[in-house]
Amino acid sequence: MSAEAVPPWDRAHQLERLRVVEASLPADPDELRTIVDTSDDLICVTEIDGRFRWVNRAFQRRLGYTPGSLVGVQSFSLIHPDDVGAVLEAARSPANAITVAFRFRHADGSWVHVEMNRRIAYDDVGNRTGTVIVSRDVTARRLAEDRFRLLSEHSPIGIYIAQDREIRYVNPRFEQLTGFSAEELIGSDPLQLVLPEDRQMVHDCAVAMLKGERQAEYEYRILNRAGEIRWIMESLVSIEYEGRRAALGNYIDVTERKAQDEELQRTIKELARSNEELGQFAYVASHDLQEPLRMVASFTQLLGRRYKGKLDEDADEFIRYAVQGVNRMQQLINDLLDYSRVGTRGNPMMPVDCDKVIARVLDSLTTRIDENDATVTIGPMPTIVADAMQLEQLFQNLIGNALKYRGEAAPAVSVTAAEERDGWHFQVKDNGIGIDPAYAERIFIIFQRLHGKEEYEGTGIGLAICKKIVDRHGGRIWVESSPGQGSTFHFILPNGGTNQS
Ligand code: ADP
Repeated sequence: MSAEAVPPWDRAHQLERLRVVEASLPADPDELRTIVDTSDDLICVTEIDGRFRWVNRAFQRRLGYTPGSLVGVQSFSLIHPDDVGAVLEAARSPANAITVAFRFRHADGSWVHVEMNRRIAYDDVGNRTGTVIVSRDVTARRLAEDRFRLLSEHSPIGIYIAQDREIRYVNPRFEQLTGFSAEELIGSDPLQLVLPEDRQMVHDCAVAMLKGERQAEYEYRILNRAGEIRWIMESLVSIEYEGRRAALGNYIDVTERKAQDEELQRTIKELARSNEELGQFAYVASHDLQEPLRMVASFTQLLGRRYKGKLDEDADEFIRYAVQGVNRMQQLINDLLDYSRVGTRGNPMMPVDCDKVIARVLDSLTTRIDENDATVTIGPMPTIVADAMQLEQLFQNLIGNALKYRGEAAPAVSVTAAEERDGWHFQVKDNGIGIDPAYAERIFIIFQRLHGKEEYEGTGIGLAICKKIVDRHGGRIWVESSPGQGSTFHFILPNGGTNQS
């Protein structure tokens, strides 16, 4: 028989209890009162019918009532209407001590969650004289529980807690992702959900995590209730649950993302393959076209020389056009070959002294520089890791264009380099005709020209070659310009960094 169930009329027991309590309590009633009033628990005594006889000061601090204002008030009137039934039922219990949780009205009208302990008070002869109630404000705890419940119920992430290889808790999203109900899952081994092929990996990750790595993140496949394979990204965290080590798992279904990733990988591979094929085709076509074209060129030139003035005037003109057309075609094919060689016939990346490279370029451009009365200034140049031949081609095209697209004034070209976070930043600046910013990107595309060949000689391949070279070095190229204001071509080559060798 428990202590609570001892009949109240058992006088000997009552007196013994009183003696024990008295021995451990302060003798001074003032001291006793101070203890009761400073207690954070809500302590009160009610009449048999439930009206307040006395309340401690915690009622004021926690619930906003002055002690005097509650005397005589029916305590049940301050209990939430939805909870009154449960409290009444508990109060009717024959046991001396009962514990019940309910909501109590604060003086401001809000509801405070309390957990109540009741004891019935008896007089010396065993008659019930009232009820002693000690209650605790558990609002903060309830709030925390509510928050957790809301978060867990509405989380888009499947959450579970496992301990000793048994699932202890799952949230609704976890049930939805796996297709199993909480009843089915709780108590089962979380590894059972995992596809057999992936179990060892998941097991090893979980063990490593529980041994010390606080968090593990990995992807694996599960079999849901419908027998479908789903890809899961799981983050597993080591936690303490009910006083012992446990694992908190977060499930995100990444099946769709995985499928998209695989599709993307396939497309990238396919693109790389067709790009390679195209490069190869351009190379073979331009290379193989050179031979018959050379023949056509030499025979039309021969025709021109041998029969000039011997046929009629029309024939002379036709031959001249044919020679011009063949020359242009040769130029186009040579440039196209240069373009396709950037990707297929590159040299290894090695330290290159840019001063020497630019000196060679200026050497080959001497005649054009002199003819145009141009000045070319070169700033301090670094040594960088690059393909020397291609670097030369790059400067040759950019400086060549700066001379070709000149304005009224004599061309003034400057080449500078500065080291930045991303690598070496080069600039080729001119005072020429400039470019409308609307075409700033288009000019780097093969065959894109802003002028007819009658205005300026060219094939529209030079800048496309520049871009391909810079790309191969892992850098980027762009232009800043406006019509009549000159142009500045910028390119950045990463320090020693290349994306191909
Ligand atoms: P091309 O010079 O053979 O036409 P590019 O690819 O070198 O081919 O240049 C593409 C176009 O960009 C040129 O036709 C020209 O209109 C423009 N362009 C290139 N460089 C300059 C420059 N320095 N100033 C003005 N326009 C330029």
